[in-house]
Amino acid sequence: MSTDRLTIFDTTLRDGEQAPGFSLRIDEKLKLARQLTALGVDIVEAGFPIASDADAEAVRMIATHIRGPVIAALARCHAKDIERAAWSLSPAPRRRIHVFLATSDLHLERKLRMTREDCLRTAMSAVRLAREYTDDVQFSAEDATRSDPDFLWRVIEAVIQSGAKTINLPDTVGYSTPDEIKEFFQAMINRVPSSDQVTFSTHCHDDLGLAAANSLSALTAGVRQVECTINGIGERAGNASLEEIVMATRVRADRLPFTTNIDPREIYATSQLLTALTGEGVQANKAIVGRNAFAHEAGIHQDGILKDRRTYEIMRPEEVGVPQATLVLGKHSGRHAVQSRCEQIGYALERHDLDRVYRAVIEHADREKVVSDRDLTDIVSRTLGKPVPAAPAASSTAVSAIQELGTTPAEFGYGHGV
Ligand code: MN
Repeated sequence: MSTDRLTIFDTTLRDGEQAPGFSLRIDEKLKLARQLTALGVDIVEAGFPIASDADAEAVRMIATHIRGPVIAALARCHAKDIERAAWSLSPAPRRRIHVFLATSDLHLERKLRMTREDCLRTAMSAVRLAREYTDDVQFSAEDATRSDPDFLWRVIEAVIQSGAKTINLPDTVGYSTPDEIKEFFQAMINRVPSSDQVTFSTHCHDDLGLAAANSLSALTAGVRQVECTINGIGERAGNASLEEIVMATRVRADRLPFTTNIDPREIYATSQLLTALTGEGVQANKAIVGRNAFAHEAGIHQDGILKDRRTYEIMRPEEVGVPQATLVLGKHSGRHAVQSRCEQIGYALERHDLDRVYRAVIEHADREKVVSDRDLTDIVSRTLGKPVPAAPAASSTAVSAIQELGTTPAEFGYGHGV
């Protein structure tokens, strides 16, 4: 099976930043753009310059200081948008103007009050104007997945003839399903006569929780650019999450034979930086970057992890820059985890003592949810009623699999690698 290189188009600073509660100052955007560069994204969509002077200034700052990724800016199909985007991007050696226009009848009739023929002409002239400022022009057909395919393929062919190099077909409202989006891209790529001259791109929203699944499905139809965001932030329920897409292609390379330029060890630091800058955390169970993504509390799971991490981990936390797996001592924990934790904090317990400590830990956890290292020290000295000989320095793989008890990944701060 051949392996294909994907283009990772990060839109955290554009689609992500325009979500409620996620707006960033210019210096914060620059800081995040630097981290996205360390992460290895191919394209940084830096903003929508016509939206405000601050947005235009932020794009210009990023275009001035960031080297490596292509810097992109969004524009409607209006001359003033395109000129503003071009001005903002001008300091960047590699710059992309990203023009968009809705193609669904719903958007054309109800929102834009435009005919299909107006849409076609407007899209073509916008792409031609953008090409006067850069060779790298992307066209997005907003609401593509709800557009009439017979009209959509004509728009795509027309904008390719006008000079677009990337064709993005967004699932703007997160309406598609994985099978459907694959068929949609297959049909478009087959039908558009010049499809072999451009890169097709997917941009999925998570309104039904399908953004990552839909993006991956689009790849199997020949799409080679994925638009995504850190932590999956974005309009409404958000965009496809970069970390989920990248790790799916790494963990399941057998089914998804795609490579990227992403350094996965920077994923967690990037997620934590975004969280720190916006003050908006991800949910505890968020895939890859959530507090519980590598935490194990159930006794059977902890026992398995201590014997062989592969029993309950499909990827190692270090691979994505998470310091280490967390075995949380709680009421679901087993003896094995309690024993390992005791050894790690310096207590070697005989079997009989371990049984007594274990019962006290479970009692404590019933009241307090989690048992910290300090709690455990108190429990050991109270239960056994005498100082306990210290264990030799913890060195086994099993013990090192345990991180500071009760310390959540978020509490490690974002100092790791940022
Ligand atoms: Mn979007």
